[in-house]
Amino acid sequence: MMPVLGEFPLVPIHVQDSEAIWDLNWQRTWARNMLRHFLNSETVLDLMTEQSRYFHLPLGNLPPDATLFATDLFYARHLVKHNFLLWCSPTERPDLGGREADDNRLLTEFEESSSVVTNNPDCYSTFCVELDIDGLAVNTLLQSHHVNDIEGTSSCVAFDTIPQASLEEIVGGQSAVLPTYDETALVSGAFKVLRAMVNAWLRDVTLYKNVIADFQILHFYRWLRSPNALLYDPALRRSLHNLMKKLFIQLVAEFKRLGSVIVYANFNKIIICTKKKTIEDAIGYVEFVVQSIRNKELFHSIEISYQQCWEYLVWLDPPTIVMNWNLVEYLPNVGGCRDNFKAVIAGYISAVYLHLKETGIQVTPARVRRVLSLDSSVNDEVMHIRRNMLRLINIGEFNELAEWRDPCISFVLPEVICKACNHCRDIDLCKDNHRAIENDWLVCPPYFINSLFDLTNIETLARKIPVWQCPLCRTSYDNSEIEYLLLDTVQRKAMAYTLQDVQCKKCLQIKLENMSEYCSCAGEFQCLVSRSDLEIHLRTFYKIAQYFKMPLLLEIVEWAIDLNPSFATGKET
Ligand SMILES: [Zn+2]
Ligand SMILES: [Zn+2]
Repeated sequence: MMPVLGEFPLVPIHVQDSEAIWDLNWQRTWARNMLRHFLNSETVLDLMTEQSRYFHLPLGNLPPDATLFATDLFYARHLVKHNFLLWCSPTERPDLGGREADDNRLLTEFEESSSVVTNNPDCYSTFCVELDIDGLAVNTLLQSHHVNDIEGTSSCVAFDTIPQASLEEIVGGQSAVLPTYDETALVSGAFKVLRAMVNAWLRDVTLYKNVIADFQILHFYRWLRSPNALLYDPALRRSLHNLMKKLFIQLVAEFKRLGSVIVYANFNKIIICTKKKTIEDAIGYVEFVVQSIRNKELFHSIEISYQQCWEYLVWLDPPTIVMNWNLVEYLPNVGGCRDNFKAVIAGYISAVYLHLKETGIQVTPARVRRVLSLDSSVNDEVMHIRRNMLRLINIGEFNELAEWRDPCISFVLPEVICKACNHCRDIDLCKDNHRAIENDWLVCPPYFINSLFDLTNIETLARKIPVWQCPLCRTSYDNSEIEYLLLDTVQRKAMAYTLQDVQCKKCLQIKLENMSEYCSCAGEFQCLVSRSDLEIHLRTFYKIAQYFKMPLLLEIVEWAIDLNPSFATGKET
């Protein structure tokens, strides 16, 4: 605007105001915001100077997501120092000189992408404690050289490294083409550099108490998982994920060794049953367990903190804790069925609870076998009730209809990271309880309407959309971001389905020949990924897109379903 300004260095300050401050007084609100940011700019500038000093980066070059960018920068410097040829790619495929364009396998949904989950539905009548796990990724990276040792193998014989050809061999042209087992073997060199980078940060934190280095470590896993990062490499991510799985299994084994019963465990959360009768004993026990786990070098930098505890826990699966039965929504609301269900479960829980306190009050549990049968101690009674109930509604005991089936569809989006507080968790998109309804202003910007009409009630014009929330800081996740993640998943699933291997039905061998119609053992062939699996997923996505108002996802899924006539028959089911 003013040409003279071009002669001054420009330092952009990236601030984000929430969209929700549109209202009739928008001029005043924005003016106030502008002044606030201006008065704040000195502090922000100080912080940015500190950052750019640590990053060795010109102040004006800091992008909005400085932490992510800095990780790219540090990694690039480390790679160059170790004689790697540097690449950089704004897309989700690494730039490997064109080879990556044919390697769709790297992008297909790999089976292990979903994190390891242990789930033991039961009734637990002693104190159960929920523990938050933090820093598993960084810990695994730092301990990666030990992970193979604890398995009883060593990294020299494992398949995840390739022998390095010496310089003489390369110059003499003697280096034979080494077999590449998979992409994780190919990145083993880069993986070591990654570890060196995080180690350097850790040194800055411990020796110089550097806050920015600490911040880098905190955001490291977000960088590794973010396709927006310039040096994003799915193979690196997969390597670390494999190691994380191994370390996590060790961690769970350690909990068991110290005498706790695992109720539920995933990468971010572990619920253990302490077998203690009083809260003091339980807390003392948990402190002891956490302390002894942290003292082991292998788990040294894992953060474990306790969240909440239950005196009596009926556990089915994560979104279904004690009185929060989303099962209820699937019972017909005839004759007070839902209320009865709630009353029975509540009555049962309090009855057992009171009984445990030996006050002698006992209520006989009377309904819904599945939940009650979680408690193995009343199994016989429950079987009896079930038989009677089924007779009441005229269904045979061994009828397929009488079998328990989860009525709720579900899709777990692994490791969603909150932008505000960096909390990382798996969201079950269909069952998750941390939800809210928000106004979608983007459909009709209110200031636009304001200038046309004088509307006092513009709230009604905005579209209401349900959103997921972070359980810690109550920030809503960005719906469009989740939509893109889901679109990505649809693409990957479709690709994985198309590129899959064919297997013999009889001997279960993978088909080797291209043209043969039958296996050498005369068996027929079948797909590894079944068609109905894909269909179930597409339908789940369809429901999610409908409910959470995701137009693009809805269109893609509809298109995919329409293209497959056998799917299309029951679109509305
Ligand atoms: Zn949060
Ligand atoms: Zn066969």
